[in-house]
Order: sequence, then C-alpha cells, then structure tokens
Amino acid sequence: MDNIQSLYQEMILEHNKRPRNYKVLEGATHQIEGYNPLCGDHYWVYLRVNKENLVEEVSFQGEGCAISKASTSLMTETLKGKSIEQAQDVAEKFFELIKNEGKNLDLGKLQVFAGIWKFPARVKCALLSWRTAYSALKGSNDTVKTE
Ligand code: ZN
Repeated sequence: MDNIQSLYQEMILEHNKRPRNYKVLEGATHQIEGYNPLCGDHYWVYLRVNKENLVEEVSFQGEGCAISKASTSLMTETLKGKSIEQAQDVAEKFFELIKNEGKNLDLGKLQVFAGIWKFPARVKCALLSWRTAYSALKGSNDTVKTE
C-alpha cells in the first residue's frame, strides 16, 4: 500500500521549509490569487513579464500545505526566464504529469509530483498555483478557485 508519507519526498519538505521567491514582487505585471477551499491553500502569484514577453521574475506569498507550497516554490523556479509561450507549455505538461498516472514527461525536478494522482485530495494542492499562474499568463486577473 502506498501511503501519504511517500509523497513527502525530501524535495517537497525542503521547498516547504525554505520556499524560493517567497515575496511580493516589485513592479509585477501580473498578480493573481489562487484558493483551494478543500485544503485551505491560499496564494498570491506575481509575475513580471517584459516587453519581449519574457517572464523575468516570478514570486509568491501565502499559506498552505507542504504540497502546495513546494509546488508553488518549484513553479517560480521553473517559469523564471521562460517566454510566455514556454511557460504555458511547461504548465500544460505539468497538468498532464499530474493526471497521467506517473507517466515520465521529463520534467526534471517536477517529476517529484508524478505519484500524486494516487492521492486525489492532494492533486488540487499541487495544481493550484500552476493553474493560477497559467490563468495569469493567459491574461486573466480573476481569482482561481479549485472546485
Ligand atoms: Zn493543500
């Protein structure tokens, strides 16, 4: 039997303890709120996109469980330096990874979430900030709420 402990791999624990880019972003071009009422995960995601459509900076603030915080922290590292198109592409791959029962999509560090489909309640935790950032990259300012 799998148990929830197997999800809390070292990387998730480490990012939860020391989240990267955990700050309000000065000069953000996008700021968007994400909320997962099921777990209580609640974040603000900030992006700064320059005139060349490059995501120069990504940061976040807020609180939630270890899975959501680690996922958000890894997301900020992943999206930084990508074009809007590349950032949307990697988010779409991440959505696939989460749903596709551990299929290896060669997403590097993000593979740590490949087993999460076994824990349906935690899927929303892992997806929340990615969906939030994705929505912002598509030009929305509306709060993203998982159902
Ligand atoms: Zn959560």
